Amino acid sequence: MPAHLPPRPSARSAVPPFRVMEILADVERLRAAGRDVVSLCAGEPSGGAPGPVAQAAARVHARNEGLGYTPALGIEQLRRAVAGHYARWYGLDVRPEDVAITTGASGALVLTFLAAFDAGDRVAVCRPGYPAYRNTLAALGAEVVELDCGAATRFQPTPGMLDAEVAAHGPLQGLVVAGPANPTGTVLEPAELAALARWCAEHGTRLISDEIYHGIVHTAPEGGAARDGEPYRGTSAWELDRDAVVISSFSKYWGMTGWRLGWALLPRDLAAAVDALAGNLSLCPPAAAQQAAVEAFTADAYAEADRAVEQFARSRNLLLDALPALRWGEVAPADGAFYLYADLGEQLERHGSSLAWCRRLLEAEAVAVVPGLDFDAARGHRAVRLSFAAGPDRVAEAVTRILRFQARP
Ligand code: PMP
Repeated sequence: MPAHLPPRPSARSAVPPFRVMEILADVERLRAAGRDVVSLCAGEPSGGAPGPVAQAAARVHARNEGLGYTPALGIEQLRRAVAGHYARWYGLDVRPEDVAITTGASGALVLTFLAAFDAGDRVAVCRPGYPAYRNTLAALGAEVVELDCGAATRFQPTPGMLDAEVAAHGPLQGLVVAGPANPTGTVLEPAELAALARWCAEHGTRLISDEIYHGIVHTAPEGGAARDGEPYRGTSAWELDRDAVVISSFSKYWGMTGWRLGWALLPRDLAAAVDALAGNLSLCPPAAAQQAAVEAFTADAYAEADRAVEQFARSRNLLLDALPALRWGEVAPADGAFYLYADLGEQLERHGSSLAWCRRLLEAEAVAVVPGLDFDAARGHRAVRLSFAAGPDRVAEAVTRILRFQARP
C-alpha cells in the first residue's frame, strides 16, 4: 500500500495575516461591551451610494428583471457609461469594448495579474503599499519585488529605482503603481507617471495603474491642471500608454464599497484573456449593481460624490491642524484619498511599536487605527494609518481622544 500524505493547504495560500483584523476584532469586542468606538480603520466612506444610484437600485430590484447572469465583462450600457466617464474626466477616447466591468477593483486586479503574468514573473510594487497587490501576486506564483519608496520620492517609485532593481536582479515583467496611493495618499505627478510609463514601454514591463482614488484629490500635484471645468481628478495611465492596464472602482469616489463593482481598461492584447478568465472565475459581476451603477455617471451623482470629497477634505484639515500638537514624526503628504500615514516619532519610545500603540489607544480611548505593518513589513512597526473617510465629527472626536491618550502620564 502506498503511504498517502494527508491533504494540506497549498503553500501559495500562506499569505500573511492582516494586523488590522486583530484591531477589528477588538473593536467588535469593545462595541459589544457598549463602548463608543471611533473607528478610523476602514478605507470606507460612510455616506452610502449617491442618491441616483440608490434609487435606481430600488427600481431594479422591484422590477426584478434582467438580474440573471450578464456578459462576463459586464452589461453594454455600463461599459459605455464608463467609457464616457473617461471623456468627461480626462478628455480620453475610450471604447466600450476596452472596459471590463469587474467585482470591485479587487476583481480587476486578480484578472489582470492572471492575464498578464506567469508564475515566476517579477512584478514590482511599492513599499509601503496596498497589501493585496503583493499578497495576490504571491498567491498566483509571481515574484513580488518590493521597491522601498520613502519620503524623498513622496512614497512613489521612480525610473531610477527600477533601473537599480533591474541591474541588481534582472528584468521586471510588471509594475503596479497607485496615485493617490493607499496608505500614503500621495499623488503621482503627470510627469512622474509619464516617466514610469516610458520606462515600462522601453523595458517590456507591463504597467498596472490603480486609479481607484481618482476624484479624491485634495492638492493637485505639479502639472496637474483642471480641464474643461473639471477639477484635477488624477492622471490616467491611458493618457500616456494604451498598453497599460488601468484599474478603478465604484468603491471610493462613489462610496459603493459593498456593491462589489469596479472596472479595468484593458490593452487590446489582454482583452480576450480577461474575458475568458472572468467567465470562469466569477461568471459575471453583480447584475443589479451593474444596472444601478449606470446612474453613477449622471451630473447629480457626480455632484453628490464631489460633496463627499469636500467632507474628506474637511476631515483631512482637522488632522493636519492637529499634527503640531500630536508631535508625530514624518507624515506622508495625504494629497489624495482619505488616509494619513504617519511615523509615530517619540510615541515609539514609550510604546515600542505602532501595534502596541494602536492596541493601547483602543483600550484607553476606544479609537481604532491601523498599524503600518500591513503596508510595510520593513518599517511599518513605526507607522500608523488613519482613515478619515468616516466624517469630520468622528475625526474631530478621534483627535481629542488621541491627544488625551498621548498626554497620559
Ligand atoms: N486598490 C486600493 C489601493 C484600495 O485601497 C482598495 C480598497 N481598499 C482596492 C484596490 C480594492 O477596492 P474594491 O475591490 O472595493 O474596489
